[in-house]
This record gives sequence, structure tokens and C-alpha cells, in this order.
Amino acid sequence: MRIARYQAPGGAPSYAVVEGDGEDAVLHALEGLPYDGLRRTGEQLPLGQARLLAPVEPSKVVAFGRNYAEHAKELGNEVPEVPIVFLKPSTSVVGPDAEVEYPALTSDLHYEGELAVVIGRRCKAVAAEEVAGVVFGYTVANDLTMRDVQKSEGQWTRGKGFDGACPLGPWVETEIDPSSLALRSSVNGELRQDGTTADMLRDVAACVSWVSQAMTLLPGDVVLTGTPAGVGSLQRGDHVEVTVEGIGTLATRITG
Ligand code: ZN
Repeated sequence: MRIARYQAPGGAPSYAVVEGDGEDAVLHALEGLPYDGLRRTGEQLPLGQARLLAPVEPSKVVAFGRNYAEHAKELGNEVPEVPIVFLKPSTSVVGPDAEVEYPALTSDLHYEGELAVVIGRRCKAVAAEEVAGVVFGYTVANDLTMRDVQKSEGQWTRGKGFDGACPLGPWVETEIDPSSLALRSSVNGELRQDGTTADMLRDVAACVSWVSQAMTLLPGDVVLTGTPAGVGSLQRGDHVEVTVEGIGTLATRITG
């Protein structure tokens, strides 16, 4: 099932079930949050008439660095023995088709297409084999990065935490096996990343379990699982698309 969040013209933001495909796709509005069960309000709206918002409202986005060997290599880094984990603040989250302003702090803004895990239940210290029970579903992320700032500072917080640094969407797919999904990124229609989630060094269960040993995860929290090889620079005006097989395509426009 696909769960989106949208705003109808003149209306308040609402979660919704997406049914149908292409021009026939319809949003069925939900009462409240989707994590404790789906209660439809009866309101419907053609998908084409709605503005989609980020499909989650996370208290935090926890992200893994260098979780694909080929990507670690392309930036001249070793594969980490201990996972590299960083936070992207809630203020970095934007939705599908967002316009993200090229930050003044950088002259080397990079895209990073990633599979995003959405947590569905409050949890702490979850064993890897129990992770499936706390996951609500999966969406697509672009871990936008000011590469020069990231490299020049000891922590990655500013380099990966600026406003707009975390496009998410277009919706959360709740029924999908994340272990071997094609993951592709393109810039202005040109293919740049062509990977598979099967190449993750630590899989979804290992990532979520690792983070949860340290901190409580809340419904709607997001875990980013790293990016495959093929990252690169963006320019003002660029149109980035990240597609994860079985979920959908997340588009972002860089402005400024
Ligand atoms: Zn990343």
C-alpha cells in the first residue's frame, strides 16, 4: 500500500492512501497519523490535483555514511569497520517536486540517492531479527550534501543538515522487500547512479538495529541507508530524480 501526505487547495495537510496508477491515481484521505491503523475520512482527490508533501514528519532522520563499498571507494574512503551514522534535522526534510535553493555556504552540492526506512512503532534496542516488526514502510531519499563543507568539518551536521537537504517521497510503500531493489539517480534526464540495495554493506535490519541500540525511534522517524556509487555535483537549475524500484521516483529542482 502507498501512503502519501498531501495538501488540497485551501485545505489542511492530510495523510492518504494512494490507489490506482498514472492519471487514474486517487488519494483517499486518512484521519490522523497512519501508524496505528488506517481510518479513511471518505474524502477523495485525484492525485494530479494535489500537492504532495513529504510523506512523513520525522522527529529525526538518522543516516548511514559509506554503506556501499563502491561509493566509499569513489570518494577515496575506506569501508568503515564501525558504521558511520549522522543526523539530518527535521528542518532539512522537504517533499516531492521540492525546489531546494543552492546553499550559499557551498560550491560543491552533491546528490545521493538512497532507500529510506520509515519507522512505524516506538522502539528501542531492537534486535536485527525484530526490525521488520517496527518498520512501517519505505520511501525514496536524496541525501543532499555540501561536499566541501562536509570534508572541511569534523562533523557532517552542517554539510548534510541544511534546509532542504533531505527530499523524501513521493510516498511510503508499506509492502515491499527492501533487500534487492534497483536504485537509480539521474540529473536532467542523464543516468548517474545505477545501483541495487543488495550491495548495502549493512542491510536494513542491521542499520535500524544499530541506531536503536542508542536512541528511541518514534513513528515517522527515518533511517537513510547510504548511497551507491555515482554521486556528483549539481548546478543551479538542475532537475534530480531518484528512483527506487517498487516505490517510485522522487524529483527535486535545485534553484538559486
Ligand atoms: Zn548519504
